[in-house]
Amino acid sequence: MKTALITGAARGIGLATTDILCAQGWHVVMVDRDAEELTARAFERQAVTAAVHDISDPDQVDSMIAATLAARGQIDALVNNAGVADFGPIEQTTFARWRRVMETNLDGAFLCTQAATPALKASRGAVVNIASISGLRASTLRVAYGTSKAAIIHMTQQYAAELGEYGIRVNSVAPGPVRTKLAMAVHTQDIIDAYHDAIPLGRYGSEAEIGQVIAFLCSDEASFVTGQNISVDGGFESTGIGLP
Ligand code: NAD
Repeated sequence: MKTALITGAARGIGLATTDILCAQGWHVVMVDRDAEELTARAFERQAVTAAVHDISDPDQVDSMIAATLAARGQIDALVNNAGVADFGPIEQTTFARWRRVMETNLDGAFLCTQAATPALKASRGAVVNIASISGLRASTLRVAYGTSKAAIIHMTQQYAAELGEYGIRVNSVAPGPVRTKLAMAVHTQDIIDAYHDAIPLGRYGSEAEIGQVIAFLCSDEASFVTGQNISVDGGFESTGIGLP
């Protein structure tokens, strides 16, 4: 049975992706720093292993990879999904707020992929990084979050270029808005209305609609796809309609 390691799997897009990959026959190692939620969600599911780790801490990332290999012997797919949001004017984005975003969204994805690389070389595995439409198009009040997500799209290409010779595929997915805890903590009614107007399909996406594309990129069906970013956003990014 192939093994996928998903960070930020306790809820939202990571949890939906866990369920989709399990239904497709994968064993999923669910990782999250929220111990209570992770334990509860893993308990409800079969074909999963749960491990509490904070992916912004290099030592915890090393033990996460070691524990996964001890338990499963291989890593066939890594989904760098754990993320935090930040929303505010540039002048109020303190360095501490900036670092909080970068530590998880960018440093965490870098550390996890680097630490998993020997295992991914052995399995000729796949990496999927979760970016955002905020990393493709600038808008107000997202300087830290948008920059972290733009960087992860470029980091995806760097890893794809360097690891292709080992058969490792590295892609990213840029979701449009999804009603998760992360998004709804910062999306006011004005923002929700603006997204509905700006998205050609006229609605938010679901966690599963993002997870299906992540699962495709993990699978052998995507065997010639690498270095790509796929927007899953109801058409938002491609249409040129901006947020007010
Ligand atoms: P969510 O808040 O529902 O889930 C994120 C999970 O990541 C949580 O369980 C949280 O505990 C975990 N996490 C955060 N920091 C961590 C860390 N340092 N170590 C381990 N676990 C950590 O959010 P979501 O909306 O499902 O977000 C998943 C990904 O999708 C994120 O990268 C986010 O930026 C991205 N995204 C979300 C949206 C959206 O509208 N929801 C849009 C674009 C991109």
